[in-house]
Amino acid sequence: MIAHGAVVPHAPVLLEEIQPSLDEGRRVRKAIEELDFSKTDVVVLVSPHAPTAGIYERCEGSLRGFGIDDAEAARDTDAGLSRALSLAWGREPIDGPIDFGIVVPLLLGVGGDLPMVAASLPQTTGPRPRALSESMDAARGLADALATVADARRVAVVASAHSSAGLSARAPLTEVSGAAEVDRELVEALESDPARIENLLGPLHEVGQACGVGPLSVLRHLLEGWRSEGLTYEAPYGVGYMVGQWS
Ligand SMILES: [Zn+2]
Repeated sequence: MIAHGAVVPHAPVLLEEIQPSLDEGRRVRKAIEELDFSKTDVVVLVSPHAPTAGIYERCEGSLRGFGIDDAEAARDTDAGLSRALSLAWGREPIDGPIDFGIVVPLLLGVGGDLPMVAASLPQTTGPRPRALSESMDAARGLADALATVADARRVAVVASAHSSAGLSARAPLTEVSGAAEVDRELVEALESDPARIENLLGPLHEVGQACGVGPLSVLRHLLEGWRSEGLTYEAPYGVGYMVGQWS
């Protein structure tokens, strides 16, 4: 069964080793510590930063691609659930290090010591983006596969997702007109019922260039009617970081 849902960010700047003085980083780290995985057996973490959709064979990687040494992440995986998910989803397993959308949440301690299944959706932002429809179709397929194979295990589904990337002059896109409104509506919808974000996914992509649309869409499909246990939202660099959980 799907027993738990959460959203977390994946910006390397949130790591204490990288930016210990950032107040927002502290708040985000504390909110992540407070996520409650006590009623789950395994965590499925969904990143939006792979070239293709699939489940990573191993949960190991680093931030060397960002020029950051000594930031290696590894977690036990659940090989049985990984295989079952790949089959039900109809995707080839991904051989190769996990992307930073998985590495950073692992380094932030998401899921504690629980086994982790690292899933990824095609990147729709940044260099060589894939079409949004490709990511949305993959998200739908992953949600359906999760609902089918979760079975007796208590599975936590965690979206590794940022919202708009154009929220202030410090943002990658600088300040984009309308992006802050889309984020406000997103937070409101996530706090009332994740299914209500449906109409915001398009604007999040088009207006805010949000990387997290695919993973958020997985939550939208799986957590309809679930109760929010609060959402922490920060945008210290003009990109929306969210930490929240549903039960
Ligand atoms: Zn991202």
